[in-house]
Amino acid sequence: MKKHLLITGGAGFIGANFISHLLESNKYKITNIDSLSYASNYENIRHFENSPGYRFIKCDISNVEDLKNVFDLEYDALINFAAESHVDRSIKDATPFIKTNIIGTFNLLQAVLAGKVKKLIQISTDEVYGSLHPTDLPFTENTPLAPNNPYSASKASADLLVRSYFKTHKLPLIITRCSNNYGPLQNTEKFIPKIITNAMNNIDIPLYGDGLNIRDWIYVKDHCRAIQLVLEKGIPGEIYNIGGSEEKTNWEVILMILKKLGKDKKLIQRVKDRKGHDRKYAMDSTKIATELGWKPIFSFSEGIQKTIEWYKQKEHE
Ligand code: NAD
Repeated sequence: MKKHLLITGGAGFIGANFISHLLESNKYKITNIDSLSYASNYENIRHFENSPGYRFIKCDISNVEDLKNVFDLEYDALINFAAESHVDRSIKDATPFIKTNIIGTFNLLQAVLAGKVKKLIQISTDEVYGSLHPTDLPFTENTPLAPNNPYSASKASADLLVRSYFKTHKLPLIITRCSNNYGPLQNTEKFIPKIITNAMNNIDIPLYGDGLNIRDWIYVKDHCRAIQLVLEKGIPGEIYNIGGSEEKTNWEVILMILKKLGKDKKLIQRVKDRKGHDRKYAMDSTKIATELGWKPIFSFSEGIQKTIEWYKQKEHE
């Protein structure tokens, strides 16, 4: 019998890519729950409904009444993507971040504790480690948590709750922490989709501060492959860092996209820096590489090309 997965936030960027990745393998039954917040795009995933063994339930993970409808069944595993995920929004108002990222995760842990789920994978982020200096070595799983903005603090809080439920209740819980993703289906408020869509439409591209902030970019499909490996082979109680090993300054990213689109650098407009803007993130993925045999397949140049093609096609639909 196919294992039944509960996926939260599957109408968002990474969750939708993950479901699409799993549906190709035809190995799992999938229940996708999402509150359909502004960040989701149901039209992009409506076609999942044609896949046998797939169902969608509109549900807010911070609402225990909503969750009762979902936990009328038991699941083999839960993969928690649902989150408020935009740092700038968390600086303006952190309230939804506390609700979804902390209380929502707590509600899901309670369901695991009640025996409704056999395994939980918490999808976390490199941002929980805080910021590196430009010459520092990448984050490992042993780097202390030092979040610097309300988004990363809410994700770190969720990670600590997961850790505590593992230590206290010995539940089968695993945390993955990934670097910055890009690829199809991402909301255009995020850095790379904004550059691509603005450039395509000859709209100015905002660049925070001096543009020298560094991120370790990973193509979303490589992240999805890593999560599937963790789901199938990961060890409870462990944390797995996942990075693309493609460290780039924001300048470099913008220049590469403009070049691929044949657009002028004059579109770049320097704007006031983000408050508390972390200088650098970089991930050491040695653990998942050596223990689970994962490594990224897509180079940044290939992944960006595919991403540009996807946004171009969307513009013409
Ligand atoms: P996203 O904002 O595109 O999608 C989040 C989804 O969660 C949306 O569909 C939204 O409707 C849903 N959601 C929000 N609040 C909810 C609630 N209360 N109940 C149910 N659903 C709710 O985010 P994403 O970029 O796909 O990120 C997914 C996860 O991966 C997040 O946990 C994020 O912290 C983590 N992550 C993201 C990145 C990245 O670069 N995007 C990197 C590392 C980790």
